[in-house]
Amino acid sequence: MLLSSLIVSPRFILEFCISTINGIFSSVFSKVCSWSRGACRATKSLVSDANSQSEQRTDENVTTPTSVNYHFTRKCNYKCGFCFHTAKTSFVLPLEEAKRGLKLLKEAGMEKINFSGGEPFLHEKGDFLGKMVQYCKTDLQLPSVSIVSNGSMIKETWFQKYGDFLDILAISCDSFDEETNQTIGRSQGRKSHIENLYKICSWCQQYKVAFKINSVINSFNVHEDLTEQINQLNPVRWKVFQCLLIDGENAGETALREAEKFVISDLQFQEFLDRHSAVSCLVPESNEKMRNSYLILDEYMRFLDCREGRKDPSRSILDVGVKDAISFSGFDEKMFLKRGGKYVWSKADMKLEW
Ligand code: SF4
Repeated sequence: MLLSSLIVSPRFILEFCISTINGIFSSVFSKVCSWSRGACRATKSLVSDANSQSEQRTDENVTTPTSVNYHFTRKCNYKCGFCFHTAKTSFVLPLEEAKRGLKLLKEAGMEKINFSGGEPFLHEKGDFLGKMVQYCKTDLQLPSVSIVSNGSMIKETWFQKYGDFLDILAISCDSFDEETNQTIGRSQGRKSHIENLYKICSWCQQYKVAFKINSVINSFNVHEDLTEQINQLNPVRWKVFQCLLIDGENAGETALREAEKFVISDLQFQEFLDRHSAVSCLVPESNEKMRNSYLILDEYMRFLDCREGRKDPSRSILDVGVKDAISFSGFDEKMFLKRGGKYVWSKADMKLEW
């Protein structure tokens, strides 16, 4: 046996060598594969980390239009001396184009839309506005739809038709003295601005719309005390603005208003706030807070950049999309949050007693 084994030994040795070399090769090969798979995985993970970091960086740089103010018309029936969105054009987009723009904003993250002017109830007697309000609530399902108006053109029939789709209606009122309102220009003819305000407040209650008041504090009302009337009307919010100069709107050579005589100092504004410190719904807005903390869309759906003390328009979101246009808006998201721009803005969440 042994002899025969020894006789076949060269063949055996050869086979043994081949099998050993095979083993070494396959072990080395599998190690190399495993290293390269690992390296591959590691590279992939590094690349994907880098990608996600760069996506995050990109996302951080993109402003979300969470809350947008659409001044779809500049026309107004009032002549407030400090008006900072004057009738420089009479242009209003066709309804379908306005809806297209609103949809683009919703797709970009809009949660709240505020319709403003000019006087938004003037165009097509409020029907154009009503259709946009209805579209934003029912088709776009926006959590909050609101309007700022001087209140003079609103009829009860509007509430009957569109009230369900509206969360907040803000009415501008700077004084409870009719003469002061006349002096400021917050009036039309002999119609009582204050009577209107009370009427709209009761309609808001009746048709379940949250009622808000906006006041601009200026040299003609800065000494007044509005506490009693504000408490009586009991708005969900009382926004108190410091009169602001905007070049080309209410200041400068090309402006339609000269608001210099309405301007008050920061100290005067603070004194007004101190006098009303007991009013719990008061939300103050100084010039500093106001300037860049609003996303303003004009009648062409262009964002307006107020950083230089005037309104510089971007290109229209209808032409270049929201992302491109918003990068020229000058919007200060931090100031928006600091001024309490994000609040309970859907009437469903306000838990109001109607
Ligand atoms: S109500 Fe006064 S402030 Fe408002 S748009 Fe008309 S004129 Fe301007």
